Amino acid sequence: MSGFDTRAVHAGQDFDPTTGAVIPPLHFSTTYAQDGIGGLRGGYEYGRSGNPTRTALETQLAALEGARHGLSFASGLAAEDALLRAVLKPGDEVLLGNDVYGGTYRLLARILAPWGVGLRVAEMTDLAAVEAALAEGPTRILWVETPSNPLLKVSDITELARLGHAAGALVVVDNTFASPALQQPLSLGADVVVHSTTKYIGGHSDVVGGALVTNDDELAEKVRFLQFAAGAVSGPMDAWLTTRGLKTLGIRMQRHSENAQVIAEFLDAHAKVQTVYYPGLPQHPGHELAARQMSRFGGIVSVGLADAAAARRFAESTRLFTLAESLGGIESLMNYPDAMTHASVRGTELAVPDNVVRLSVGIESVADLVADLEQALDQI
Ligand SMILES: *Cc1c(COP(=O)(O)O)cnc(C)c1O
Repeated sequence: MSGFDTRAVHAGQDFDPTTGAVIPPLHFSTTYAQDGIGGLRGGYEYGRSGNPTRTALETQLAALEGARHGLSFASGLAAEDALLRAVLKPGDEVLLGNDVYGGTYRLLARILAPWGVGLRVAEMTDLAAVEAALAEGPTRILWVETPSNPLLKVSDITELARLGHAAGALVVVDNTFASPALQQPLSLGADVVVHSTTKYIGGHSDVVGGALVTNDDELAEKVRFLQFAAGAVSGPMDAWLTTRGLKTLGIRMQRHSENAQVIAEFLDAHAKVQTVYYPGLPQHPGHELAARQMSRFGGIVSVGLADAAAARRFAESTRLFTLAESLGGIESLMNYPDAMTHASVRGTELAVPDNVVRLSVGIESVADLVADLEQALDQI
């Protein structure tokens, strides 16, 4: 198989055979002419069941994760929903990390639990705790997210896959934070990878989307049926924008990671900073594991300041880092989790400390980013 960046540029991106257009055309058509009843020209009949632009993205997604199947959806949560409904039935149980993406928890707790799905929560960085939680009862799905949001905890995909499989569970990894450029969970033993392509894969903060990749033929078939029967597919424009973003994923992740490392080291040395959460720092508890499991440490850096007031002031004082939710775009973003992305888990065991600020480090010139953070820290 060719290198990652070669696959990113070429997989699913063959030039158009009729015109020679180097970039595959964006297909908006919702329906396809048939050569006699049932005579389909490329397997396409109706836009919900299939669209060539979506196929191009799905081929590219599968190739980048070294998988047989890639499926793309209208959002990350739509991908998760299709997967969960394809796999679970009433009475089944899911074991998930105690710091999974809030929307994943909400989907399970508010939508699937009322249909009879049971939830258990464990600390995924503690393998003994996970083993004990698996021993509590049959587990249909083990749901892992690493690095986690926003405290960048790193959990061991290889070991979790081993424990999950020994307990008969399907092992799912939410790979949104690392992206396939930095981490390949299927090669570490996971059964399914899900993504919010809204983040690094799209990479430009201009398209919401989700994806799922797997080597499991039977599971892919079931999810594909849900994609068709329930319809939470990507629209053609969304698929095309995501494909375009995906082509530069490798080079973007390299720059995001390099900038984040410089910023983490700068913050770590700053007198007003209490804690820096970044797996690229040697003192981070997940540093060695991340160095083994990921090819780089990623673009998200979280930082703990003296108290909530200092964190809020810092978050509101940057000029280049824009105060906004989401992450993974080329522009740097600043987030105050307690009142923004994680407001819904305030006061619960999933709450984020109120002195923490999360930075999504962009690809700008790093000296400008550091200068911006420095002037913001001067204001607290
Ligand atoms: C954003 C995000 C999701 C949800 O994806 P949407 O595209 O917003 O539906 C899931 N997991 C993680 C880790 C995320 O950051």
